[in-house]
Amino acid sequence: MPVSDMELTQMFEHVLKLSKVDETQSVAVLKSHYSNQRIVSAAMDAAQRLGARVYGIELPASHDTRAASNDLTAIVGKTPLTGNVAAKEALMAADLVVDTMMLLHSPEQSDILASGTRMLLAVEPPEMLARMLPTEEDKVRINAAAEVFKAASSIRVTSAAGTDFIAKLGQYPVMTEYGFADEPGRWDHWPSGFLFSWPNEGAAEGTIVLDVGDILLPFKTYVQSPVTLEIREGYIRKIHGGFDADYLESYMTQFKDPEVYALSHLGWGLQPRAQWAAIGLNNKDDSIGMDARAFEGNFLFSTGSNTEVGGPRNTPCHMDIPMRRCTVTLDELPVVIEGRVVAPEHSVG
Ligand code: FE
Repeated sequence: MPVSDMELTQMFEHVLKLSKVDETQSVAVLKSHYSNQRIVSAAMDAAQRLGARVYGIELPASHDTRAASNDLTAIVGKTPLTGNVAAKEALMAADLVVDTMMLLHSPEQSDILASGTRMLLAVEPPEMLARMLPTEEDKVRINAAAEVFKAASSIRVTSAAGTDFIAKLGQYPVMTEYGFADEPGRWDHWPSGFLFSWPNEGAAEGTIVLDVGDILLPFKTYVQSPVTLEIREGYIRKIHGGFDADYLESYMTQFKDPEVYALSHLGWGLQPRAQWAAIGLNNKDDSIGMDARAFEGNFLFSTGSNTEVGGPRNTPCHMDIPMRRCTVTLDELPVVIEGRVVAPEHSVG
């Protein structure tokens, strides 16, 4: 059932209010020709209704011939803002930037946030935005989990399918995505609802077995045959299995960059309104697949770049891989048991 323009504007008003937009604030809407124009209009109208000073920044798209699809996450690091100092400064001048283009994983985004400007990414279709409209409760729940995560020195993941993997923590911060940008320098993404950190450099070991039904992003496919990833010293050293393993390995290999095999962020999903099944019901070009990253109880790990937290790795290939039915343990404390969130105890679902 489609969302109307009026509803979309109302939803933006709600999210911008959560993001502390009021008559004292300036809001920049970053857009390009491929932005969803309804989202651009709704963001601008909603910010005006809240009394903010609003302006748009429009940039030409920049293509990368290594991209095998139009998914905005397929190639990361270089964006239309790369080298455009004037546009970057215009964005830094805002209190809040609504990003309808996707600058994630770019050094320019880090610079904008370091200036104190808040950023809210909104690139998913209106119906997905509606289903996962953020609430204050999302923030409370995810922040509670973050406190537990911050205190941990290791994360261990096991599953009946054969996963047994451990990573040391502490070198990199814990990041939360609860769907609104309410603090200076905060980046967030509507829709979302999960948290993550990064393994210490070189300190991830073991085996991850992707089981049938786990999801490969940006492919937006469900694994159909188990894939075994052997991990040593922070890198995937071997990939084996059937067709899915072959496909994953051949995709990663084509980047001809050993850094694509590094483990990147690790965490778990806490959004009960995100749906595991949604990837199968939506056209691949319409969405970047946030349901898959956020659904409650998934273990999400990724590969590639860690520049967004000041890490040394800048590589264009970024795989996000949400897994079901895993047990996630922080030091001695299980937070997810066989895909069910168990701690902190007030999780809803
Ligand atoms: Fe990711």
